[in-house]
Amino acid sequence: MIISPKIRGFICTTAHPEGCEAHVRDQIDYVRSQPPIENCPKKVLIIGSSTGYGLASRIVPAFAGEADTLGVFFERPPSESKPASAGWYNSAAFESAAKAEGLYARSINGDAYSDEIKNLAVKEIKASMGQVDCVVFSLASPRRVDPENGQVYKSCLKPIGTTYSQKTVNTDKAEVEEIVIESATEDEITQTVKVMGGEDWERWIDALSSGGVLAPSVITVAYSYIGPELTWSVYKDGTIGQAKIHLQETCERIHEKISPSGGRAYISVNKAVVTQASSAIPVVPLYISVLFKKMKEEGVHEDCIEQIRRLFGDHFTGVPSLDGSGRIRIDDWEMRDDIQEHVAEVWAQISTDNLKELSDFSSYQKDFMKLFGFGLEGVDYGADTDPVRSIDLVE
Ligand code: NAD
Repeated sequence: MIISPKIRGFICTTAHPEGCEAHVRDQIDYVRSQPPIENCPKKVLIIGSSTGYGLASRIVPAFAGEADTLGVFFERPPSESKPASAGWYNSAAFESAAKAEGLYARSINGDAYSDEIKNLAVKEIKASMGQVDCVVFSLASPRRVDPENGQVYKSCLKPIGTTYSQKTVNTDKAEVEEIVIESATEDEITQTVKVMGGEDWERWIDALSSGGVLAPSVITVAYSYIGPELTWSVYKDGTIGQAKIHLQETCERIHEKISPSGGRAYISVNKAVVTQASSAIPVVPLYISVLFKKMKEEGVHEDCIEQIRRLFGDHFTGVPSLDGSGRIRIDDWEMRDDIQEHVAEVWAQISTDNLKELSDFSSYQKDFMKLFGFGLEGVDYGADTDPVRSIDLVE
């Protein structure tokens, strides 16, 4: 089958197996080009391991620290007539590269919010890994089914107590336009916290702990974002911000539970990068386009893989340096004063007419396509390709 991109707004409904493989290989090559990480976690569970920050959190310990990894994700498998989702192909490519190095690498495809998947993970860790010394929580989802009562919660991105109006880019038309988002209701805030807050992270840690599969000195981390003031109303001070506050409070609770045996829980505030999750957030693609141009000019641009290499290399091998609120800050270069001041200046001027000149919108578009395995060097997109790739799933 010839697989071409089919874009619907902020999602591409097709993915290219060889392209995704090349994308994963590029990330592995980057990690291999860096020195190995001494004292890297050796047995890592990654919840949300198939794309974005979670995928990078699987690649880094495996290829910089020879770690065994168990990945959990929710992806569409392929059929003879329909390609899989990108995360499926990424995971297939990761597993075959990790296994070629003699590493344990298996995956669970299912709803991480369910008790069933947690129990499956505990069983598999017990049987194949013994215990895990690192747990990465990197889920990004628009919905969650509560395992206690079956209720479905939906997350939304809205301001609280105010109407947000800001510039955004229409990615299909490459036009800068205004977006207006009305204030969230109390119910929308509650539901977003239920989906993107820390409740499920804590349920995972509780399940792993009572299953006896957490190493005494386990490190667990969940990812957060702060970003520039121009997005605060809709992000940091909006519904998702409330969820991230809940994540921080949960981190403190988890830390109290695991620290008596030497365990540690952290929030890592990461940089804005192009992922399936961030592409869906209004304003962010335009911000990213402006930000990336400046960060590239300054020689400090990073993608998921560079960010997570820094997280594991600088913070997980000893005592991490934390900000005043106890968080790891690998968004430090994004938030540098000179970079943020420049972004604010450009932001005031940016319009459809000067979009390409003032920002790196074309790189944003290329990075977006790469998420689905399109636009990778050395891949023959005109050639017939078999959409079926298998993964060694734990079932
Ligand atoms: P992503 O969309 O690339 O990845 C989400 C992952 O979650 C995928 O592996 C997907 O399969 C998995 N997933 C979703 N629903 C699931 C379910 N029900 N069961 C099992 N797996 C499920 O997202 P991302 O951008 O890498 O985000 C990961 C975390 O990083 C989020 O907490 C996000 O807030 C944070 N973060 C992202 C950015 C950014 O710019 N993208 C910046 C800072 C922090």
